Amino acid sequence: MSSFPASNRTYQIIHDAAKRGYAVGGYCVYNTDGVLAVIRAAERCRSPAIIQVFPWTLHFQGRHFIQFIASAAHGATVPISVHLDHCLQPSDADLALDCAFDSIMVDGSMFDEEQSIAYVKRIVEKGREKGITIEAELGRMEGGEDGLPKIEGSLLTDPKGVKSWVERTGVHFLAPSFGNVHGPYPQGGAEKWWQVDRYVSMLDRLSYRRAHYGRLKEIYEALGPQTPLVLHGTHPCSDDMFKTGIASGIRKVNLNRTVRNGYMNFLSEESGKLELTQLQERGVQIYSEEVERLMVVLGSVGKA
Ligand SMILES: [Zn+2]
Repeated sequence: MSSFPASNRTYQIIHDAAKRGYAVGGYCVYNTDGVLAVIRAAERCRSPAIIQVFPWTLHFQGRHFIQFIASAAHGATVPISVHLDHCLQPSDADLALDCAFDSIMVDGSMFDEEQSIAYVKRIVEKGREKGITIEAELGRMEGGEDGLPKIEGSLLTDPKGVKSWVERTGVHFLAPSFGNVHGPYPQGGAEKWWQVDRYVSMLDRLSYRRAHYGRLKEIYEALGPQTPLVLHGTHPCSDDMFKTGIASGIRKVNLNRTVRNGYMNFLSEESGKLELTQLQERGVQIYSEEVERLMVVLGSVGKA
């Protein structure tokens, strides 16, 4: 048996993606329909997957719901891990360490740099005792998601500082801030805001964005494959942009509204017309088809 962190499920899933040059989806779910949709899509596509929840779930549904997700995910016929996204409150991180998570994203963006390092490092050390790996954000992404405060103005990750920050905190996966925005994207979309490619047109070279071009690639080059990168801010995001991100070292792609809009639309149109059993069965089917589509885009199909 391998030792930690190689023994950890999220670590194995993300490092397989790093080794074979694809990305795995981190699918944000809120209810049993979401859990079933991801597991069924992953099994049909023979794809690895990561099911993730926000701290909201910890409070609203509680640890027994996390236990349900973990037993369903770990009982699947393909590798699926369970992850907590954006753990802002230290008290939530402590609670999460006692739940059935494989990995936790620690978000220290509320703190100053030294406090943030201390927070992340403390959870990394506690996670090691429990066999839980840690993702963290360096810098600060703009926007907001369910139950999280809305952030105004981003703080971009400095490629020069990433290596020492990862060493000081001991994190296993890094979520960089390179112009990505928590959904929905402002005008121009991911195509305008991401700073991924150093080879740009003359027009862009002359623009204010010049200084930031190539940031994601520089972060990837500074860290190497041992610290895989995580993409936040994917709503909406074209298939081409996902592929551009993967070419720049992204190995985990967080997906929320992008894969559940069809399900939400179906519920809003059909609830009140169908029995709950039919609503759930057809809802899960629609949801899982969207997840499958993204598994194709990310290249995780057939990798399990
Ligand atoms: Zn995020």
